[in-house]
This record gives sequence, structure tokens and C-alpha cells, in this order.
Amino acid sequence: MKKLTIIGGGPAGYAAALYANNFDLDVTIIESDVLGGTCLNRGCIPAKYWLHLAELNHEINNASDFGIQVKTSEIDWKKASTKRQDIVSKLVGGIGMLLKSKKVNVVNGWGKIKNENSVLVKKEDGSEELIQTDYILLATGSKPRELASLKYDNEFIINSDSALNWEKPPSKVCVVGAGAIGCEFASLLTDLGSTVTVVELEKEILPGFDKRTSGELRKQLTKRGVIFKMGTSIDSVKDKEIIFSDGEKETFDTVLVAIGRSPLTENIGLEDISVTTTNGYIDVNLETMQVNGKENIFAAGDIISNAPQLAHVAFAEAMCAVSYIATGVASPINYSAIPYVVYTNPELAEVGLNSDKAKLKEIEVDQAQHSFAGIGRAMIQNSNQGLVKVYAEKNGPIVGASICGPSAGEMIHELMYMVGWEALPAEAAEFIHAHPTLSEAVGESLLSLNGKGLH
Ligand SMILES: Cc1cc2nc3c(=O)[nH]c(=O)nc-3n(C[C@H](O)[C@H](O)[C@H](O)COP(=O)(O)OP(=O)(O)OC[C@H]3O[C@@H](n4cnc5c(N)ncnc54)[C@H](O)[C@@H]3O)c2cc1C
Repeated sequence: MKKLTIIGGGPAGYAAALYANNFDLDVTIIESDVLGGTCLNRGCIPAKYWLHLAELNHEINNASDFGIQVKTSEIDWKKASTKRQDIVSKLVGGIGMLLKSKKVNVVNGWGKIKNENSVLVKKEDGSEELIQTDYILLATGSKPRELASLKYDNEFIINSDSALNWEKPPSKVCVVGAGAIGCEFASLLTDLGSTVTVVELEKEILPGFDKRTSGELRKQLTKRGVIFKMGTSIDSVKDKEIIFSDGEKETFDTVLVAIGRSPLTENIGLEDISVTTTNGYIDVNLETMQVNGKENIFAAGDIISNAPQLAHVAFAEAMCAVSYIATGVASPINYSAIPYVVYTNPELAEVGLNSDKAKLKEIEVDQAQHSFAGIGRAMIQNSNQGLVKVYAEKNGPIVGASICGPSAGEMIHELMYMVGWEALPAEAAEFIHAHPTLSEAVGESLLSLNGKGLH
């Protein structure tokens, strides 16, 4: 039986270990911390818990719109925090049980490649274990990027790891960076009653996303109290006072830096097998996930270059690598149909191309949009703001979509299939969406894209 050794037990690592059970592979996974990686412990899951809590709080405090009178909500922060930790523990425990049920050998310790057929594990008790292997999958993930001028002290200047462990959020927060993580924190903080300022060097939030839908998100967050300082940076910090590049000064309780993530590729033995990195990222053949120039070394997840740092992408890359290891046949991922979701209130979700991306690729596109304003279900939910945008290549298939609105992160998946299967607008417009649903906004935009709108 071929032996596969995986370094890292996050989404890429544990997905590879689980998926390998479909094939004849003997699998060992090495994790230095807790199974589940960033996603379960310091990312997706705790962040989405905070966002759900915040949205619930917002809805309760606005229930009077429906005639339900409630006093201002009071949050039992300890209970809220315990529930978050319970969810994380259950999911982490579940991964452990799944791995056990699939007979994966889990080793706790720091894994480092010794040579192309062995990995050395340094354990907490100081002991070492040398694992001989046929294949190695690197899945060591990433950590929050740090700005030289804003070094983390874990009290005033913090990153998302610390913020997700707040029992109660601070009253006044400066969020540095308006990418997905920065925007999610801005959204949850404002809905939990904190004062939030987001400072971002770029002119728009969520660089790379559709400008119309991301502009709509910014508008809605601004309406709920988030202050955006665009095209601005931080000049200096003294005590708790921040001096911005526009000359303004302000005092905050906390500065939360959310400027992206750096790959964890140090001290994992890359130099011992002559693998070089690009800005710290590992270059792989994206058809097979093989590390460039290496037959039996693979990498997946946040550590690889030219791919988005997302948990579902990490899963897919892990499966792609395992499949190639087991069968020798490449089964490449369709990177052009990956859904991107920002779980703000309201959500923003996108797949494939938008105007700017199409322009960059010199693809001429038609586009259509439909607002949630007149969508009955959205009105019932008091969330009839935002829109759906769809894009098709001129006289060709649907190539992208962007949604800002309620449940955008769920709705984007029907558009994912259309982009992935290269559906023509006329084919997509044939299908009937149930009434009354939020998805009717998708149906309406597809009718318009096909040149015959209804409402
Ligand atoms: C706040 C936040 C919110 C996010 N929200 C989302 C979201 O909603 N949706 C989404 O798709 N993505 C989200 N992400 C991104 C997502 O968490 C990552 O893309 C995903 O976790 C990457 O998986 P990975 O396996 O590559 O790495 P990681 O999850 O970082 O896991 C790597 C693992 O390897 C271990 N490790 C590292 N080096 C070694 C070593 N030498 N030996 C042994 N073990 C080692 C680490 O301890 C870790 O457990 C979010 C991230 C953050 C920070």
C-alpha cells in the first residue's frame, strides 16, 4: 500500500486524509496544534458564529419594525462565548473521530521534511519520530500578516486570532484593511453596538469584487454606522491615539489589523529538498498539486501560490492531490467557478468574472441586474436592499455573477453551476424560480440577461 504523509491538519490536510480513504492509501497526518486548522479554530467557524450573533442582535433590536416590542437586547457574553467554543470543539472533535474511523494515523507534533521520502516529527515532550513515506502533502496553512509599523501586542494592536477570542468586543475599534475579514469584523462589530472605523489604502472596499455590489455593501454598512476612511493609512500610533495619513487623530480601544495572511512555509524542510518559494508561497502544478520539480511532493491550501486562500478551495486542492497520487490521472479544479462569499450583513457573494476581471481578460461581456427592492420575500424579511448582477460573454455563456443581499452566500451556488457548466443565458432563463423566494432576483436577472425581462 502506498504511504502518504500529510503535514498540517487544517482543511487541506484533514480533507486529504479523509478523501484518501476512497483509495488504497496508508495515511499519516501530522498536526502541531489542534485539528481543524485556521478554519475551525481561528477562522471561518468562530467568525461566522460572531456574525450570526451580531445579525441576531441587529434583528432583535429592529423587531419593532414588525410591531414586536422588545427592550434593547442584553447579551450574556459568557454564554455567547461558551456556545461559540462548544461549536468549535464539536467540529474539531468530529474531525478527530472521522479520521479515526477512516484509520488515519494522527501524530501530534511539528512535521519537517527530512528528505523526499521521510518526515521528521518533533513532539511536545521533546521526542522525535521519523516517518518513511512514498508521498508528502504539505498543508501547513497561513497566519495573519503583520505590518512592520503595527506590531501585534495582543492587547491594543491585535489580529483576527485574538479578536475571535474576545468574550465581549471592545467599544471602539479601528479595523485596518477592508478585505473580506476586515469587512466581516466591521459588520459584526457595528451590529453588536461597537463604534467601528475601517481604514483602507485602496479607494474601494473588497478589492477585486464587483464594484457595484461591493459599493452597495459599503453603503449599507455605512448606514448602520461603520465609518470608512478610504485611500487612507495609519501614520503613527501613540498610546491609544492613531494619527491617520489624512492628518486626523482619534483614540480607540483596539486596532484590529486584517491585511491578509502569510503562508506558513518556514522551518518545514523546503530548503532540504531544494524547493524555493515565491514570496513565501509554494509553486505547484495546479492540475495535480505537485510541487514544481518534485514527483512525490504535493502542496495544497493557503500555502500555494496563484490560488485563493479559502477553506473550500483547500478541500478541493487536497482532493485533487490525493486523486492524482492514487490514480496517476490529473483531475484539475475549475478555478474559474469558485464561489467567494463575504459573510457580512448583508452578504456579498461572487463567482467567475465581473466587469473589471472581464476587461483584464479582454472578454467582452453583456450584463444584467435585478434589485431586491421589489422581491416580496426580501421585503417580508426587511432586507430588500442590494442586487444580483449576472454576466455573459457576448453571444456566449454565463461567465460570472455577483450578489449583495440577503442569503447571497447560498444563492451564488446556482450561478456557480451556470458558470461551471457554461450555460447560455437562454438556457438558464428557461428555468422557473419558486415564488416567493429571494432567488427570484436571480431568475429575474437571468431573464434580463436573455434580453426579455419580466418585472
Ligand atoms: C478570520 C478568518 C475568517 C475566515 N473565513 C473564511 C470563510 O468564511 N470561508 C473560507 O472559505 N475561508 C475562510 N477563511 C480562510 C480559511 O480559514 C483558510 O483558507 C483555511 O483554513 C486554509 O486551510 P489550510 O489547511 O490550508 O490551512 P490552515 O487552516 O491554516 O491549517 C494548517 C494547519 O497546519 C498546522 N501546521 C502548520 N505547520 C505545521 C507543521 N510544520 N507541522 C504540523 N502541523 C503544522 C497548523 O497548526 C494548522 O492546524 C478565514 C480565515 C480567517 C483568518
